Amino acid sequence: MRILVTGGAGFIGSHLCERLLGEGHDVICLDNFFTGRRENVYHLMDSKRFDLVRHDIIEPILLEVDQIYNLACPASPVHYQYNPVKTVKTNVMGTINMLGLAKRVRARILQASTSEVYGDPEIHPQTEGYWGHVNCIGPRSCYDEGKRLAETLMMDYHRQNRVDTRIIRIFNTYGPRMLENDGRVVSNFIVQALRGEELTLYGTGEQTRSFCYVDDLVEGMIRLMNVEGEDVHQPVNVGNPGEFTMKQLAEEVGRAAGIEVKVSYRPLPQDDPRQRQPDITRAKKLLGWEPTIPLRDGLKRTVEYFSERIKGSDK
Ligand code: NAD
Ligand code: UDP
Repeated sequence: MRILVTGGAGFIGSHLCERLLGEGHDVICLDNFFTGRRENVYHLMDSKRFDLVRHDIIEPILLEVDQIYNLACPASPVHYQYNPVKTVKTNVMGTINMLGLAKRVRARILQASTSEVYGDPEIHPQTEGYWGHVNCIGPRSCYDEGKRLAETLMMDYHRQNRVDTRIIRIFNTYGPRMLENDGRVVSNFIVQALRGEELTLYGTGEQTRSFCYVDDLVEGMIRLMNVEGEDVHQPVNVGNPGEFTMKQLAEEVGRAAGIEVKVSYRPLPQDDPRQRQPDITRAKKLLGWEPTIPLRDGLKRTVEYFSERIKGSDK
């Protein structure tokens, strides 16, 4: 198949491009390089089946493709809040453009949604049936509401135009190729640990997240794109149900990096969700999917990646 991956030069997108090429597909990686990097996909450039296109999805584009993975959107709070209006445009105008393309060329399209559609959740763990608890006027809403509208668009194009859609609700994912200055907790803690700095805990550090290693996530994503059946258009949670407080995560990062961690406390960002854990019953049933890489193993691999990069940049 010929497959378009928007946001393909980013963290998750680059792993997805690699997997799809490995499966023998033609891959078009489209990116505006806001948080993505060419070097994330350098190793794929030798392949005749790989194309890299610089393009912003808020502008329309016409390509002949069979499948579209719509991942383009900054994922870290630091980056999506840098230009919040642009974040909304990417999620709304960008998703309309990709859905328009899917409609025109009859491609199947998968939207990368997020656990943030649940906001600061009042039910725990979160099931797909939960409608969420999102502040629509806060600093996170450009992303949270943007992604909620992207889901609305997916469902409306499906109902109105019969576009073949899939929605994946991704929970916190980590692994090699996250940016050092990404601002997300796993990359922050690892980089701080490797540089011998204090790990910055926001708030009390008692808030929880559930962390999925990127290879597991990509496997779930590809399965969802290719599954057939009746309710495949409804959202599916994909994440690792292992839940940790940020204090516990700091300890785990210390263990993976082989250092005694020192922490310093910083203010909790506004609207920071208190807890988050996916209920993955639906993914297990529909996709036969569950995560296979425990946090400890995934952190080890991620620490190796960052130590190489930091060594390289210190030279
Ligand atoms: P990332 O920031 O590394 O990747 C996003 C990519 O999209 C980057 O390469 C960026 O340059 C590109 N991009 C941004 N705006 C664009 C635009 N207007 N046009 C074209 N390209 C654009 O983030 P990631 O962690 O790889 O996330 C990928 C997707 O998964 C995002 O849609 C994100 O919302 C979603 N997601 C990620 C997580 C996570 O924990 N990593 C969790 C939930 C959802
Ligand atoms: N966090 C932290 N220290 C950091 C970065 C983040 O304690 O250096 C916390 C943050 O407040 C949140 C959790 O870690 O409670 C996850 O933050 P991240 O930005 O990675 O993802 P999100 O909040 O979008 O789930």
